[in-house]
Amino acid sequence: MTSSVDSVPAPAPFSFELYPPRTAASEAALHETIARLAEVGPRFISVTYGAGGSTGGRSLEVLRHIRATTDVEPLAHLTCVGNTYAGANRLIREFLDAGIRSFLALRGDPPAGTSEDDVYLGDLESAAQLVQLIDRVQAERAPYQESGIPGMPGAARVDPRPRVDIAVAAFPNGHPRSRHPREHIDALLAKQAAGATLAITQLFFHADDYVWFVDRARTAGVTIPILPGIMPITGPARLRRVLQLTGEEIPADLAIALEVEPTAEGQREIGIAHAARLAEEVLAGGAPGVHLYAFNNHDTVLSVLREAGILTAGASGPASTPVKESRR
Ligand code: FAD
Repeated sequence: MTSSVDSVPAPAPFSFELYPPRTAASEAALHETIARLAEVGPRFISVTYGAGGSTGGRSLEVLRHIRATTDVEPLAHLTCVGNTYAGANRLIREFLDAGIRSFLALRGDPPAGTSEDDVYLGDLESAAQLVQLIDRVQAERAPYQESGIPGMPGAARVDPRPRVDIAVAAFPNGHPRSRHPREHIDALLAKQAAGATLAITQLFFHADDYVWFVDRARTAGVTIPILPGIMPITGPARLRRVLQLTGEEIPADLAIALEVEPTAEGQREIGIAHAARLAEEVLAGGAPGVHLYAFNNHDTVLSVLREAGILTAGASGPASTPVKESRR
């Protein structure tokens, strides 16, 4: 006989994305947000990296704070933009020295004031090259060692390297720069071949966009997990901004619902309900979890998880991760 405990499905894993604070006041608020997000037990919290290193130091500070004050895995975004090989090498070492073991390797957005048509990349021209570099720098720091007496029977090569996870971006509706419909899947295959272990998607507005993309990626040979990126759109201004940044097509239903709702609170509820429905649908479609763009605010994404039934109302989380006193 199956016990009722056996029949309860495991809660879906989830993770969050934050960006470095711009002011001292927002830094204090972000620390509070990190503590609240850590309480519910995310798989990781990722921190964005500004184009051309504009937020580099502040990204690392946030990652250090996550590491020092919680048990949650900090995941560092790194970009190719404007970096030499030597500079990128130094940067990766700095993050590894700070104890960061998980990365999201990205080509990067064009820095403010430049466009996709300007030359803004440095020595590294694609995320796949950055994946390779992270892997190589990590390997150089801790090369293979011999166990036993080298050359004698029983001697073996052991790999003492701590595990480094390298995530990459994926684009369910294609990258705005793609010149043909398969190019973004080829780019994802190249990143997998370079050593990527996980893909996180750009935001999308319909569950089918994700499900069909995963289907096509699997047919093409992509085997790494593809985590859907979900962004709660809590007002028309945010919708306009993300459409401008991502080149996604306008989601007519959501856009109209947000435009006709007169109150900010009502718009927020629409955004939460839409994101929660999307999370439920992609999980039903086989997603290995959900990655939520948190905009440095914990209330909205926690409401999404509760409304999607991933967190139970009032509960601290499926796999509660206590906030640490301090690791420093
Ligand atoms: P790549 O995989 O290198 O390439 C992207 C696309 O460009 C490919 O799909 C392909 O269509 C085309 N392409 C690739 N190589 C070639 C080639 N040799 N010739 C022609 N076309 C080519 N940006 C930031 O600056 N900081 C961040 O922290 C950040 N975080 C992100 C997090 C997520 C989850 C996502 C989805 C995006 C993020 N971005 C961030 C945005 C990202 O940097 C941009 O979307 C960028 O334009 C593409 O990055 P990529 O790593 O996918 O690039």
